[in-house]
Amino acid sequence: MKALPFILSFVLVTTTAVGQRRRAVLPSGTVVDLSYPFDSESVYWPTAESFHLTKDFEGVTEKGFYYSAYKYSAAEHGGTHLDAPVHFSQGRHTVDQIPLEQLMGSGIVIDVTKQCEDNSDYQVTIKDFLAWEKKHGRIAAGSILLLRTGFGRFYPDRKRYLGTEERGPEAVAGLHFPGLHPLTARWLSANRSIKAIGLDTASIDYGQSTLFESHRILFDKNIPAFENVANLARLPPKGFSVIALPMKIKGGSGGPLRILAILGQP
Ligand SMILES: [Zn+2]
Repeated sequence: MKALPFILSFVLVTTTAVGQRRRAVLPSGTVVDLSYPFDSESVYWPTAESFHLTKDFEGVTEKGFYYSAYKYSAAEHGGTHLDAPVHFSQGRHTVDQIPLEQLMGSGIVIDVTKQCEDNSDYQVTIKDFLAWEKKHGRIAAGSILLLRTGFGRFYPDRKRYLGTEERGPEAVAGLHFPGLHPLTARWLSANRSIKAIGLDTASIDYGQSTLFESHRILFDKNIPAFENVANLARLPPKGFSVIALPMKIKGGSGGPLRILAILGQP
């Protein structure tokens, strides 16, 4: 019987050690998929090649077992994807050069759904960020910012999501969806230290942008962007982790992105 306290404490220590090890590997909590599936409906820029999946083989082979294989083609920028800094800033990170640490971290959601309700040309302001900070505290260094405009609810209806369902260079003038105001991008890059930024529209600059200033300001600082991010309505304003892993295209300016959130304090 003397051995019992020892055995009990051993079990406790082991449990704690395992628990700690588990926490150190990954935060535990509900996982939310923030990527849309890639299919023929995936939203691409009006001038970009959209996603095509073609069948190499699908069915039972001559030898009696099932086999399937497909091939796909698409532009880098479409569906849920990452913009690498080199997309708008020469000499900055290509998609394969972005440090993985920069693609994982604590997430926050700035909700501007109301502001965008009657204004599809809305650009997220510094005031929106300051209002968030007033409620939730200063944006912690190394955060991953997600802007929720509410436009995710229209995906993949191109007419409502992009403002036009036309394709080709002439369609670009008809793009209407919210984005980040260049002044806010400048304020963020000068005053807050963030790893990455994403949103539930097709571009970090709003649809009517022709100079893509927010892209250029952020990318110049090697801050990548996630576009066409799904399911932002399922995230709280803070208290979750983000993991965002793009296809590792060597020298690529962006690529398809699998992004997820794990709810619970990181
Ligand atoms: Zn892009």
